[in-house]
Amino acid sequence: MATRPIHEGLFTKPDDPRGAALLAGRCGACGRHHFPAAETCPYCSAETGSVEAVGATGRIFLHTVVQTAPPGYTGPVPYGFGLVDLPEGLRVVTRLAAADLDALESGLRVRLEIAPLCTDEEGNEILSWAYRPDDGAA
Ligand SMILES: [Zn+2]
Repeated sequence: MATRPIHEGLFTKPDDPRGAALLAGRCGACGRHHFPAAETCPYCSAETGSVEAVGATGRIFLHTVVQTAPPGYTGPVPYGFGLVDLPEGLRVVTRLAAADLDALESGLRVRLEIAPLCTDEEGNEILSWAYRPDDGAA
């Protein structure tokens, strides 16, 4: 069984020495981060910049619990979903993983994980990212 990311260029692969991270664009002109990384800065339209690994940790800004699978989604339900503020100044839309979804709350410190989400029609494991409450380990 093979493993592939849900989309190339969104996050580091499991063997990446930088650890679990989102791949954000950083504008060469205004210096702001954006995610997903884009050729053109969404804030100032500059076309210079780089890709940086960000968001190993963050804090929940707001969240909800999805009880019904959206169209095309074959992963488990229910799952958490919301916005996480990253130390780099980004606020990202993300899945939220937790053993106890009732424990999710605004301001909660979370840690990024890259993990299998579901299996595609050919039997490949599809990797995605999620933030999970940070238990302080690692
Ligand atoms: Zn810019």
